[in-house]
Amino acid sequence: MRFSQPEADVFVPDASLTPEAALTRTTHLCVAAHQDDIEIMAYHGIAECFGRTDRWFSGVVVTNGAGSPRTGVYAHYSDAEMQAVRRLEQRKAAYVGDYSIQLQLAHPSAAVKDPRNAAVQVDLAAIFAAAGAEVVYLHQPADKHDTHVAVMAHCLQALRALPAAQRPKQVYGCEVWRDLDWLLDTDKQVLDVSAYPNVAASLVGVFDSQIAGGKRYDLASLGRRRANATYFASHGVDLAQGLSYGMDLSPLITDTSKDVTEYVLEYIQRFSNDVKGRLERLG
Ligand SMILES: [Zn+2]
Repeated sequence: MRFSQPEADVFVPDASLTPEAALTRTTHLCVAAHQDDIEIMAYHGIAECFGRTDRWFSGVVVTNGAGSPRTGVYAHYSDAEMQAVRRLEQRKAAYVGDYSIQLQLAHPSAAVKDPRNAAVQVDLAAIFAAAGAEVVYLHQPADKHDTHVAVMAHCLQALRALPAAQRPKQVYGCEVWRDLDWLLDTDKQVLDVSAYPNVAASLVGVFDSQIAGGKRYDLASLGRRRANATYFASHGVDLAQGLSYGMDLSPLITDTSKDVTEYVLEYIQRFSNDVKGRLERLG
């Protein structure tokens, strides 16, 4: 299995399996920008497949992890050494989460932000075609991190280029750098992420280099899921211990003429109408 960047990393936790076989059996696939994004945004897919033999989760990290903060035990690491640490942490997460395969494509962030970058497109097209996943988790298009949105846009382009029969049944845009609490409840894809809380905690916890950099992504990610569960409905008891919200991106794959910007602005317009309507009624 070869990709366009020589530093690309292929890891199959079950060593008895070839990478090709591990990718082909994938049913749930997350494509994210950075190491640790998958575990923050797509725990729903990981949990759906955990401990099962009829469903398999796989993860793809598009960038190389360059330029991340280096403090504490990592203070004296070079940027290249830090990239190696992050690569290893992503492999640890794949092992803990029982992923089928973990791919790290090692593209520089600047290259990913070029919408016409052919190398990124070629890699993603090959992965989507080989995996044939039913459910795909992407960054949500209203995320505030440029690289996240760029990766999402590359993925949409690659998925739209697949023959219709090979496209996933469900595509979710997921929360990292901006949550989706602002979506109308009727617009939310509500994903129960209550299962295996110990696994959920471990998955974000293995990224020590990011947490040691001064950001408690482990606490924040689990806290967001808990807050979503409690604040989802003002009446009644919590029905789940954790919820993640997704934006339904499937219509953008089914109808390839649909413009992503217009699609997202429709969600924002419905949010705007909701706030306006309530204030006009009560203000
Ligand atoms: Zn990220």
